[in-house]
Amino acid sequence: MFDSTFNFSKSLEFQQFCELSAEIGRNPLLVQGAGGNTSIKEDDLLWVKASGTWLSEATEKKTMVAVDLAKLQQVMAQNDERVEKPQYFKADPNESLRPSIETVVHASLKHRVVLHVHCVETISWAVLENAEKLLVTPLKGLDWVFIPYRRPGLPLAREIQSKITEKTNVLILGNHGLVVAADSIKEAHQLLLEVHQRLRRARREVTIPKSNVALPAESNYRDAEFFAQGIAHDTISLEKVEKGSLYPDHVIFLGSGVQLLDSSTTLEQFEQNQPESLPKALIIPDQAVLVHKQAPRGTDEMLLSLTEVAARLQPNDRVEKLTFNDEAALLNWDAEKYRQELARRIASA
Ligand SMILES: [Zn+2]
Repeated sequence: MFDSTFNFSKSLEFQQFCELSAEIGRNPLLVQGAGGNTSIKEDDLLWVKASGTWLSEATEKKTMVAVDLAKLQQVMAQNDERVEKPQYFKADPNESLRPSIETVVHASLKHRVVLHVHCVETISWAVLENAEKLLVTPLKGLDWVFIPYRRPGLPLAREIQSKITEKTNVLILGNHGLVVAADSIKEAHQLLLEVHQRLRRARREVTIPKSNVALPAESNYRDAEFFAQGIAHDTISLEKVEKGSLYPDHVIFLGSGVQLLDSSTTLEQFEQNQPESLPKALIIPDQAVLVHKQAPRGTDEMLLSLTEVAARLQPNDRVEKLTFNDEAALLNWDAEKYRQELARRIASA
C-alpha cells in the first residue's frame, strides 16, 4: 500500500485502534480465537479485521484490511448477493487478506468505530428464549436493540438495518454476541466495557481435578487446555449445551453441538467406531475435555467460550439453540445432506 489513499494506516489513531483491538482480543471473556472483529471508518474506507486473523495479534501482524465503503454500501442498498463476498470490496486489489464476513455489520452502522465481540456475558443472555424482554432492565438508558438470530452476512445485515435508528449504538445479537459503536475509539471502548459490566451474570465455580484420563500415545486426542476443562465437571453446563449449538462460532469451529463419551464406551472404542469423522472436541463427563490433535488453532479457545457461557446459565434458564437449518447454512451445507451426515455420526457414536 504505497498510495496515499491508505495513509490512515500509518496514523497514530490507526495505531490506537489496533492497540484497542489487541486489548479486546486478549480478553477471553470478550473474544476467543479468530472470533470478533473491529472496524474504523476514515474518509471513503472502512478498515476492518480480516477473516481468519486474531484480534489479539492486531499490533504484531497485519490484521486490518481496507474496504471501499461507498461501493459496499451501494451493493447493500441493492440487496445484492455480492455482499456475501467481502473480498469484492477490498480497496486494494493487491491485498491478499479478505475482509471478515461480518464486514456488513460494520458498514450498517454510521459510527466511525464499531466493535463486535463474542462477549460471554452477553451471549449468556442472548441465548435465552426471552432475551429481549430480560435485557430491558440491565440495559435501561442505553440506545440498544435486540437483533434476533440471523446468519452472519447479508441476512444479519438486513435484520440490523430494519431495526436500528440513527441513535442505536448497542446491538445485542441473538445467539451470537454484542456490537457497540461510537465516533471515537475511547467512547467505543467505554461503551463496550459498560455493556459487558451491566450484563455480568453469576458464574458457577467448578472444581477441576487434574485430568485423570490416561491418553494412549496413539490416541487422536489430547487434553484440552486447563481453561477449557470446566465444562466436563459441571452437570448443569453439560445439560445446557447438550444437543445443539448456541452460537455460530461453535458450529464453525467445533461442529454441531458437543459430543459426549458415554460411560459404556471406551475412548479406544469411540475412535475405532468412527475413524473418519472424529469430532474436534470430545467431553468425558466428570473426567476431561479432549481436543483432536489435528484440530485447528483456536479450538481450545472455542471450548473456553462454551465453558464460560454455560457456567453462566442457570438451571431454570430456557435456552434457545440454533436450528438445524441455521447450522447447515453456517457450514454451507445443503440442509438435507447435513441432516444425513449428522444422523450417520450419531448412529456410529
Ligand atoms: Zn460474530
